[in-house]
Amino acid sequence: MKKKVAVLPGDGIGQEIMEGALDVLKAVGDWFGHSFEIEKAHIGGDALDTTGMPLPDETLKLCKESDAVLLGAVGGPKWDRVPRHLRPEKGLLAIRKELDLFANIRPVKAFESLLGASPLKKEIVKDVDMVIVRELTGGLYFGKPSGREETNGTTAVDTLTYKKSEIERIVKKGFELAGKRKNKLTSVDKANVLESSRLWREVVDEMAPKYPEVEVEHMLVDVAAMKLMYQPKQFDVMVTENMFGDILSDEASMITGSLGMLPSASLRSDSFGLYEPVHGSAPDIAGKGKANPLAMILSVALMLRHSFHLHEEAEMIEMAVQEVLNAGYRTGDLWAVGRGTVVGTDSMNKLVVERLEADHALSSILAAYL
Ligand code: NAD
Repeated sequence: MKKKVAVLPGDGIGQEIMEGALDVLKAVGDWFGHSFEIEKAHIGGDALDTTGMPLPDETLKLCKESDAVLLGAVGGPKWDRVPRHLRPEKGLLAIRKELDLFANIRPVKAFESLLGASPLKKEIVKDVDMVIVRELTGGLYFGKPSGREETNGTTAVDTLTYKKSEIERIVKKGFELAGKRKNKLTSVDKANVLESSRLWREVVDEMAPKYPEVEVEHMLVDVAAMKLMYQPKQFDVMVTENMFGDILSDEASMITGSLGMLPSASLRSDSFGLYEPVHGSAPDIAGKGKANPLAMILSVALMLRHSFHLHEEAEMIEMAVQEVLNAGYRTGDLWAVGRGTVVGTDSMNKLVVERLEADHALSSILAAYL
């Protein structure tokens, strides 16, 4: 298979974690005979410094010409004072909107060897395997802010708007994913207070009869936040709007032990997607070689699975990550409360690539004998 991948490392640790992820992609390509054409472009603060815009036209053009996009992270204190429309985060919001990436898929899986790295009790996080489906191109983050100028800075307004069609397409993704997993969908809203949530709930109820095999439950976001911490195993697929999904998925990262473990896929209605870690540019550790690259590497696995339908290849990456963790290797974020050998970003990348190469060699030997 031949595919073109646009690569946008971005800012802070985004630059550091991307190189290793590309080595992993190459290793899996060599193993299975695929060729991935890589072309890099700027986004975020990096793009602002080089082109004056957080999402340059050339970057958008490259993404549109590619089969998928890999993104590191954007933002950092260096750009905190730039005008609102030029902020690095605007580049990320704009690329999601321009590419119509409305469905953000965030798997949350507890790795057996990392149970001790979660601040939650082992018996609570053990066997957690859920997916948060977050709406990504509507809601508060795309509302029309107003009020500041008119009121001399004393009032600020953000608007939360959802069209029925926007809710329908993300809820459909939720139902479809639930149908491929354990047939359980939890729809999270704040229908006791928000009109947009009442519309959300109506849409879910209208669509439910089309998926009779899927059991649906509605849950208020405050209850969902609490249940994620004390009964996370009760969830399989959770579907929710933009801001609730943003907050709940960061909370859910604590099940895995670190933000550095959570990958994500942002999908269109076809197989095109943008793949990035859930975490940000981590300015506090950027440039120190300490970042955990596993969320970026696991995002490569999601790309292979969702955009290229290369399921075995994706599993091989996930298995290599699991094996490296089982062997006791940890980046600092996981080491804090777990046990093992502390390694930096580059060493962790190398360990995963070596694992893949070893698994490849072993499978070749086995194939020769079978
Ligand atoms: P962050 O996710 O960058 O960091 C939060 C904490 O988690 C920090 O202590 C950081 O060191 C740690 N952390 C995050 N990723 C890690 C990793 N891979 N390995 C080890 N530790 C890791 O969130 P923040 O500090 O609130 O935001 C920093 C910048 O990133 C801001 O400019 C923010 O707007 C931006 N941001 C970008 C994205 C994105 O690009 N998708 C997402 C969130 C935040």
